[in-house]
Amino acid sequence: MGKPAGKTCDYQKFLKGCTVYRRASMPPECQLWSCRWLVDDDAADLSRPDRSHYVIDMMPDYISLRDNTTGELTNIQVVQIWVDPRHRDAHRDAALRRWLYRRAEKGFAALIRFNSREALALFAPPFAADGDWHEMDGTSDPRTHTFGEVLKALAEAPMTERTRHDQERETAGG
Ligand code: SF4
Repeated sequence: MGKPAGKTCDYQKFLKGCTVYRRASMPPECQLWSCRWLVDDDAADLSRPDRSHYVIDMMPDYISLRDNTTGELTNIQVVQIWVDPRHRDAHRDAALRRWLYRRAEKGFAALIRFNSREALALFAPPFAADGDWHEMDGTSDPRTHTFGEVLKALAEAPMTERTRHDQERETAGG
């Protein structure tokens, strides 16, 4: 778009939002991109992003967790939630937590992003033996993963117990 990440778009005006929304002059990147609130069948429970202060990205990504004992890296698939840094607790929204719980049942954790570098990983109860939510602070690599890297990581990502159980049932015709 010819602007650095984190810089406000020139088309965005205070209290008006995008001044070229759905016009021919809207940049093609914006015409192509939709957030999950707009297109996800399972998002009816969620508030509009300008009210909730978070946007759920359509594009999945992955995070790498290092085992402190063995040094081994494991990639975990995540949905990306971009949170307005002026509302850092927006990811605690109960409706979003319910939506993330359903994603966790499919094997997706969440990456809560405040900008291109500052993020925290969020694991819903299906990931944890104690049945609780877990947050992990971390540093995000400002280099964007390539599409090929994301596809490879998603294919290799470990499943939650529930996802494995669902797949076994499907394979068995259950
Ligand atoms: S939708 Fe695109 S053009 Fe409109 S304000 Fe946002 S970034 Fe700018």
